[in-house]
Amino acid sequence: MIDLKNLTIEKARTSLDAKEFSAVDLAKTYLMEIEKKNKEFNAYLEVYDDVLEQAKTADEMIAKEESYPLLGIPLAVKDVILIKGKHVSAASKILENYIATYNATVITKLKKQGAVFLGRTNMDEFALGSSTENSAYGVTKNPHDNSRVPGGTSGGSAAVVAGDMALAALGSDTGGSIRLPSSFCGVVGLKPTYGRVSRYGLMAAVSSFDVIGPITKTTKDAQIIFDVIKGNDILDSTSIADKKYLGTPKKDKRVIGVPWELINQEGINLKVKENFKDAVKKLENLGYEVRDIKLPNCLALYYIINFAEVSTNLARFDGVRYGIHKDGQNLLKDYLLTRRDGFGKETKRRILLGTYVLSAGYYDAYYGKAQKARIALRKEFQELFSEIDLILTPTSPIPAWKIGEKSDPLSMYLVDIFTVTANIVGVPAISVPSGFVAIEDKNLPLGIQFMASHGAEDLLFEVGKNFEAMV
Ligand code: GLN
Repeated sequence: MIDLKNLTIEKARTSLDAKEFSAVDLAKTYLMEIEKKNKEFNAYLEVYDDVLEQAKTADEMIAKEESYPLLGIPLAVKDVILIKGKHVSAASKILENYIATYNATVITKLKKQGAVFLGRTNMDEFALGSSTENSAYGVTKNPHDNSRVPGGTSGGSAAVVAGDMALAALGSDTGGSIRLPSSFCGVVGLKPTYGRVSRYGLMAAVSSFDVIGPITKTTKDAQIIFDVIKGNDILDSTSIADKKYLGTPKKDKRVIGVPWELINQEGINLKVKENFKDAVKKLENLGYEVRDIKLPNCLALYYIINFAEVSTNLARFDGVRYGIHKDGQNLLKDYLLTRRDGFGKETKRRILLGTYVLSAGYYDAYYGKAQKARIALRKEFQELFSEIDLILTPTSPIPAWKIGEKSDPLSMYLVDIFTVTANIVGVPAISVPSGFVAIEDKNLPLGIQFMASHGAEDLLFEVGKNFEAMV
């Protein structure tokens, strides 16, 4: 029997290469676990029917003494990343029957390594939300407490890793969608620097914020996946050549900035604050210097740009080229009916608000102003990172909430207070587990978030590993 609970990519690699178990054994063990749990947790929207075939191919590669970091490693993929020939729906009804016609670049890279794709995971429709409750296919439940949300939007991906239904997963992050569910589910989530991982084959939500990244059990595992999927891609003009980043020079003492004012304001859960202060102490004990810094609340700025880009990106779903088609007898009515029936509530809300902030007469007041603020914020970050190495915050202001508990959109948006900033600026950020809080006789995981300057993922891995060893 393979002990899935304690398995990491690192350990599985050793065992696979040593032939202690085969890729088929490993895939079968995961399939059994999925069979046992997925009905309850609704974390996978689909488990692929060719998993064992993929694993067999991996075993053949292993038999030929080939070795790649992810050869034979069972991964889950968020339902917004294209795998040729497989269904992909962004958890939307509008793409109910859509089958991908090409591979995302990250998938091509992983396939080359012989990774095994188990299935596609649940999410908020078009990656809009913070809880996975906006999926057209039902909510995913948190493996630590099935009455609570797993966070979002990559909630399915975080839940399968936490619930031992995959060894690791891919998510996407536009304003926290990798980090927030990772913290709610007690796993590690990395949002890479904007452009460091190709977006080709990732369905666009907010093109200037979106990035694909790993959700894993350890920081080391996140690094392993990141190293495979990163790099320049001719198919994504915003992707960045890896050689641009030479790695962060070694230093005896790293400085961590903490925006205390932002963290001490009302609305941040007291247990989250306590846990966070504890984490800061641990980092000080590890030899990090902690300094007070100022960071603005960027939610308004984030949501204006989010709405604007979402409204333009989702204009392509018209019932003619993709997904479902509703017949309204003329073209305009076709569009209206298809979009009325195909999109969920939150998606419609953002399309409406986005159209508004981009419309003549309002553009300058909202979208134009937000873009200017974004440039100013980038400059502020550049200055900050000339003095400090890392920024530390809680990942979420509150622990996982009860399914259905948050009914108004604004309270949902507020949860993103600590995560959106990294996307606006484009810097990398990682969420690592920081322990548990007892709530209603359940232990709920919490996470802390580190941000570093553009391209300094290596620094996030360094501090993540150091911190992990202390928790
Ligand atoms: N919660 C944020 C939003 O609703 C972020 C979502 C994401 O990162 N995809 O926009």
